[in-house]
Amino acid sequence: MIDIKNILDKLGIEPVNHGVTTGQVSWPGNGEILTSFSPVDGKKIAEIGQAGKYDYDQVIARSVEAYKVWRLIPAPKRGDIVRQMGDQLRKMKQDLGTLVSYEMGKSLQEGLGEVQEMIDICDFAVGISRQLYGLTMHSERPMHRMYEQWHPIGLVGVISAFNFPVAVWSWNAMLAWVCGDVCIWKPSEKTPLTAIACQQIIKTVLKENDVPEGVSSVVTGGREVGIWLADDPRIALISATGSIPMGRAVGEAVARRLGRSLLELGGNNAIIVTRSADLNIAIPGIVFGAVGTAGQRCTSTRRIIVQEDIYEEVKNRLVKAYSQLKIGNPLETQNHVGPLIDKMAVEQYQASVEKVKEAGGHFIVAPNVLSGEEYESGCYVSPSIAEVENGYAIVQHETFAPLLYLIKYTDIEEAIAIQNDVPQGLSSAIFTNNVRESEQFLSQVGSDCGIANVNIGTSGAEIGGAFGGEKETGGGRESGSDSWKAYMRRQTNTINYGSALPLAQGIKFEF
Ligand code: NAD
Repeated sequence: MIDIKNILDKLGIEPVNHGVTTGQVSWPGNGEILTSFSPVDGKKIAEIGQAGKYDYDQVIARSVEAYKVWRLIPAPKRGDIVRQMGDQLRKMKQDLGTLVSYEMGKSLQEGLGEVQEMIDICDFAVGISRQLYGLTMHSERPMHRMYEQWHPIGLVGVISAFNFPVAVWSWNAMLAWVCGDVCIWKPSEKTPLTAIACQQIIKTVLKENDVPEGVSSVVTGGREVGIWLADDPRIALISATGSIPMGRAVGEAVARRLGRSLLELGGNNAIIVTRSADLNIAIPGIVFGAVGTAGQRCTSTRRIIVQEDIYEEVKNRLVKAYSQLKIGNPLETQNHVGPLIDKMAVEQYQASVEKVKEAGGHFIVAPNVLSGEEYESGCYVSPSIAEVENGYAIVQHETFAPLLYLIKYTDIEEAIAIQNDVPQGLSSAIFTNNVRESEQFLSQVGSDCGIANVNIGTSGAEIGGAFGGEKETGGGRESGSDSWKAYMRRQTNTINYGSALPLAQGIKFEF
């Protein structure tokens, strides 16, 4: 039995918490008091004094000042501070991972995995701190030299979703910090305690390194605080993770003031299962993708597009696999599926189920809302599978729950067309042993998603690659590869070391 009280103590979570911090300094916000409840058992965990507008302005004023100092610290030195944060996270992995699991409802394994992802991005950012490379170019003019430099961009606002309550912040913050930016984090109002715990974990590092107040800030609150950030011209970059309606609102607000935004929004991820697929890996890949985190990953598998010759076999094997799933407390390792985040998410699942039925879909694994002693929070549902047509309005929409659709295809061109025929473009996969099919899927006429995998599922990305998607998923890229460029501004420099002033394109200007 996990002692939650002891874990909260170790993470510095009080019964009533300060909802505003600028790193070393924190205070109770003058916004409304928010209570965090666990979807695991429905119990109240703690309260938070959320940020009001006055608190918000205080935080931004301090961030502006902090940036003036932080940008002057050499990038490898900033990297070393991020390295120390990674060390702290290593020490606190078990406790933070458990709180993630308890406040958000994902399995303990996934909670620990999320903290591991934070550690991994710290390591990655340390390396990047010595590789913020620009190119040099050959000038067309004699005795001229051209090169580009990457400078910090300024204040970065991070708006995050409930389902990856801590990793998404670290993807942004660790890279932004080595780039020389300062961060203001508005966590999801559904998971505020994990955000407070992160600040407690890095606080000693900030203090020991004399990092100015305002380099790492948190403003807890709901949608309204996110709107303040999006509208604020002092924030150079808004990185927002969440639903498509949220991304549309934030993208529009930031564009209105000609700021920069990095949007990581919903997915509608499909797996194509071809005739040559190895079903011994395809079936577990599908099931983990569809029911892991109770279907609440942006990369969760929503649609399975199966070749008609193996359709019945895939269907039967999925039904059998689903009958073996154990639903219950995610902190207990024997359970595969935990709760949804709250009762509203349960209602949305039920509403989607009704729409599937109305459209003509046929459930082969029935959905259910669970009740009884183990399910007192009212947030547990059983994962379901429905046979559908890709064109149903509800199938075109992301239902953030363990609702899996089965769709039949005849040839690979048709499968790829179905896979792409949704408004979202985050993650995709194909299971095949046929190199022609896999290469076609990965080619320019293949998957239109930001992530396309072969013989692994749609969910569970590594931090080393750039993460994000196309179309309504928002187009942003975070985490690995050269995603760091989003957190910097590029400056092109031309230097004349001669005694003449030739103009580009051979233009003559004499007087
Ligand atoms: P949500 O859109 O309800 O909320 C996300 C965040 O945005 C919260 O902090 C919320 O307070 C804030 N917000 C909401 N409306 C806003 C507005 N108008 N202006 C400013 N801020 C606003 O999303 P959620 O339910 O927390 O998360 C689930 C969604 O997030 C799913 O659609 C999922 O696919 C998506 N997601 C995407 C990624 C990705 O990387 N692509 C990762 C995780 C989650």
